Amino acid sequence: SDRDSLFIVSDFANKHYQNILQNHEQGGIGQSYLKERGISGATIRKFELGYSLDAWSDLTDAALKAGYQQRFLEATGLTILKEDGKKYDRFRGRVMFPIHNVSGRVVGFGARTLKSNDKKSPKYLNSPESDIYHKSNVLYGLFQAKQAIRMQDMCYMVEGYLDVLSLHQGGIENVVASSGTSLTEGQIKLISRYTQNITVLYDGDAAGIKASLRGIDLILENGLNVNVVTFPQGEDPDSYIQKVGDAAFKAYIQEHAQDFISFKTSLYAEEAKGNPVKKAEAIREIVTSIAKIPDPIKRTVFFRSCSLIFDIDEQLLISEYNKMQLQGR
Ligand code: ATP
Ligand code: MN
Ligand code: MN
Ligand code: MN
Repeated sequence: SDRDSLFIVSDFANKHYQNILQNHEQGGIGQSYLKERGISGATIRKFELGYSLDAWSDLTDAALKAGYQQRFLEATGLTILKEDGKKYDRFRGRVMFPIHNVSGRVVGFGARTLKSNDKKSPKYLNSPESDIYHKSNVLYGLFQAKQAIRMQDMCYMVEGYLDVLSLHQGGIENVVASSGTSLTEGQIKLISRYTQNITVLYDGDAAGIKASLRGIDLILENGLNVNVVTFPQGEDPDSYIQKVGDAAFKAYIQEHAQDFISFKTSLYAEEAKGNPVKKAEAIREIVTSIAKIPDPIKRTVFFRSCSLIFDIDEQLLISEYNKMQLQGR
């Protein structure tokens, strides 16, 4: 079928990019970039990293020559057809991260520019949606992580490709990335095949923290348990593990793992100090999250700890919750 052809051409591209990274003279550029980022040869092989030549149509030409049909190259987004009929490669001069589905077939690619500060081209390019690639139902690294997730009964959730690679390399293999998009229900359902426990390790910047707030509510709504670890300002899991080393990183996440109540509380409590209006807002915000937990026993436990942390009557929280239910929130 056509879907099969998309898988097959993606596999061809994956091998092509890997071959360039390993054997082409230009591959050395990608190799030294990855080396600089602290990525080992073993990690490169495990995640099948590659490199796309800095040329207009290297992949397209190679694929056509090998007999692959242009329409499948276009359908996967690997080839872009210009109005004048010229064909060119979507990915050029980038480190290639193949994205696998849970059964290990390549469905798309993420691709990083090597330029550190080029405003003209985006840092990452991704394959477009296709019949085999639905972004909201794929998690980067899940294929490589699924056994470890099941064994540890926990899944670390990070933002980026390099975060997944660096953690794996440091011995933390139960890790997947949402790849920039905010977490979706489909992605949470995927994880829930392997575990009910997620620990969110997002970047230590405003965007990362905001993304984790949205993600947390969605995880709770789906009945999974969620913990959060925050990193120092400006650090992400990759930069932090590369900076402090594996052992210190593991100790850090052990020490800093918070359940979502203490995470939200510490986020809001500081601002709310001595300000009853803000405190009330913070409490309402947290009750809104608790309200999303489907299991009534878990809800009760969290009302309890929220009442202790904020030093307010548990019954007050519950009546706030009941009001929300009546308002249909
Ligand atoms: P690096 O460490 O290589 O700079 P990162 O993963 O830390 O990358 P972030 O800026 O934290 O980069 O972004 C997190 C993720 O969001 C990326 O891994 C990528 O999947 C996605 N992303 C970032 N920038 C872009 C972009 N310009 N276009 C599309 N996706 C992006
Ligand atoms: Mn970020
Ligand atoms: Mn990052
Ligand atoms: Mn990073």
